[in-house]
Amino acid sequence: MKNAYLLLTPGPLSTSETVRSAMLKDWCTWDDDYNKAIVEVIRDKLVALATQQPGYTSVLMQGSGTASVEATLGSAIGENGKLLVVDNGVYGARMAEIAQYLHIPCQTVASGETAQPNVEDVAAALAADPSITHVAMVHCETTTGMLNPIADVAALAKQHGKVMILDAMSSFGGIPMDIGELDIDFMISSANKCIQGVPGFGFVIAKREALAACEGQARSLSLDLYAQWACMEANHGKWRFTSPTHTVRAFYQALLELEQEGGIAARHTRYQTNQRTLVAGMRELGFTPLLDEALHSPIITSFYSPTDSEYQFSDFYARLKAQGFVIYPGKVSSADCFRIGNIGEVYPADIERLLVAIRGAMYWQTQDSDTAVLA
Ligand SMILES: *Cc1c(COP(=O)(O)O)cnc(C)c1O
Repeated sequence: MKNAYLLLTPGPLSTSETVRSAMLKDWCTWDDDYNKAIVEVIRDKLVALATQQPGYTSVLMQGSGTASVEATLGSAIGENGKLLVVDNGVYGARMAEIAQYLHIPCQTVASGETAQPNVEDVAAALAADPSITHVAMVHCETTTGMLNPIADVAALAKQHGKVMILDAMSSFGGIPMDIGELDIDFMISSANKCIQGVPGFGFVIAKREALAACEGQARSLSLDLYAQWACMEANHGKWRFTSPTHTVRAFYQALLELEQEGGIAARHTRYQTNQRTLVAGMRELGFTPLLDEALHSPIITSFYSPTDSEYQFSDFYARLKAQGFVIYPGKVSSADCFRIGNIGEVYPADIERLLVAIRGAMYWQTQDSDTAVLA
């Protein structure tokens, strides 16, 4: 089945027909042909994608990506722990909110949504409060599309002897990195982002030692990261509770397709080409990106909304959708924006077609300026 439109959103995103077709079969969750042949292979492949260094393992967790973030924070931070969250967007703020729900003491270093986290502020916070045990930050802040300086913050956390937690939800699989080199203890991502699977579960790639230390600490039964991992380890990939079998099978196919594409480096290049094509074309049409180019990620880009009084996001959105493209509303609180994602089964030729569609959808422009744009 072909899709009626292309999702230019940061997940769920457009998947390949072969990934979707992989779901057309039912699986038993107790058999080797599911657990050993699919789940265990996925777990190994994820670790291999994340790092070349030894000592890492992975665990899959039901739910959307947030469930895996919540499982990690709720399981990794002990009773006397304290979390420092580096916050420059919705997803950083969400980690602080999770800590609040779970009654985990938490401090945030916030730089605002359009600025890079200030590494000196993080250093000062760590120096001022020795009771901090864990540092959490987002890699690509999907709110704006900003790529955050994880190497600097991770190095700082390690210098102070803290456990480092990275939300790489929207970047893992699309941006090369080695979490072992960065000395990251827990890295969280999900099925429906750069690996290009369908939604239904998230995963955590962690140091074996760090995961083992989570035993007995979870603040939730179903989100006990240690118990889920221990079950998978002891039973060849068996999930504690009903696993999203079709989603997992689709994810396996998505991992094969990532390999066929040439791995993370090749996918990164495609996303980058998508993003550069998009930004150049949008500038030509008169749109301005929210962030300085140096802060852009290849994942998603925020653009200022047109200031013309006739412009309405809902109309613009509907016109683009009618032409086969779904774009994404803005999420930045300080500026009126919309966002366009570059990830998923999306190629530079699709972005070229999108730009033509956008030009046709700029209904708020007068006939005169229309000609000016076209000229
Ligand atoms: C998508 C995303 C999440 C998780 O969102 P869910 O809606 O729970 O899947 C978390 N952090 C970042 C940076 C994301 O992009």
